[in-house]
Amino acid sequence: MFDPVKRADMLRPLMLKNGKFLISRIAGTGEEVKEDEDRIAYSTYFKFKWYIDLPEQLSLSPAELWSPNLLGLVDNPLSSSLRDIKKLEFQNPPFSAAFRMKGKHGDPKDYNRAFTIQLSGCNYNCNYCFVPPETNACNPNFSKYFSVKEIVDYFLKAREDFNEPINVVRVTGGENMIVPEFVIELYNELEKIDGTYLWIDTNLSATKHMENVENELKDVLKRRNVGVTGCFKGTCKEDFSLITGAQQSFFDDQFKAAKLFLDWKTDLYVYLPALVYGNSVEQKIDGFVNMLQALNKNLPLRVEMLIIHEYPAAKRNMELKSKEKRPIPLTDQRKVFDSWYNKILPKYYSKEMLSKFCCEVPL
Ligand code: SF4
Repeated sequence: MFDPVKRADMLRPLMLKNGKFLISRIAGTGEEVKEDEDRIAYSTYFKFKWYIDLPEQLSLSPAELWSPNLLGLVDNPLSSSLRDIKKLEFQNPPFSAAFRMKGKHGDPKDYNRAFTIQLSGCNYNCNYCFVPPETNACNPNFSKYFSVKEIVDYFLKAREDFNEPINVVRVTGGENMIVPEFVIELYNELEKIDGTYLWIDTNLSATKHMENVENELKDVLKRRNVGVTGCFKGTCKEDFSLITGAQQSFFDDQFKAAKLFLDWKTDLYVYLPALVYGNSVEQKIDGFVNMLQALNKNLPLRVEMLIIHEYPAAKRNMELKSKEKRPIPLTDQRKVFDSWYNKILPKYYSKEMLSKFCCEVPL
């Protein structure tokens, strides 16, 4: 098991060189969107995704989309297919962006398509990772350096070409907080473009690099058109280490990073992959909820549990890490979802709080 802080230090000079940032090539990874195939300029390095994608949801009016009936799990989750278990697979970005920009008058469909930039380089080595290992390793054959200005030009071109709104720019990875300068520079460019929302993913491991640019980063993170999703890996230190390949002692660093985001007035959301090892699922989830509550009493209500699909790259990672004795857990993910949403959260929160979208939950 490795030290992810040392790994981040090694990766940083490869991810940021001469004022340009290393961006993963999406083409050829199986992650590109089919419809984009003829838009080579974008789909080679950037990708687009719809977050509300079910036809019956896309046809709803904004008021209908804000109904609490769309929250939580479908009835009988344990006998449903995993793919369909959540009524809404993702609230972020469409709902979070709409809410931050226009409150509940906002239309989530205006923020449903995200122009996604994937930085190459991650200091974890997760066994479920959706990114192909070579794409995530600062490998020059699978990535290219771009200035922020060049990236924003691609975004503007995409906005002109698509006949539906693209108002969200998502920065994912890799771990982008190893080079937080990217987020700062990108926001400063996006600020000049009306109506954009910046969504930042992080694995909550790179506080040192965040603190090095504290003032500029804080200034970006507190803006209304910025949201951050911190992805916790596992509900306890043992599971964290099996999932990420990092030493168990770094489990607590995730909470320190989340605290830093909260202290800096970030609109913070949490992802939790539905991966729990062993039989004590409820006990582990309960313990994790308590750890989040110690940071902020409402933080568990801002969690979106992630379905771990066997996408082509994820399948390769699962097979590779299985050989390193880090297979993904055998626990049925539906059981993890059921425990989180139907058993543990109702133990701590009222019906009224449970019927809020994550973005409505005050921190
Ligand atoms: S899942 Fe995220 S944190 Fe984990 S290795 Fe992949 S990019 Fe890094």
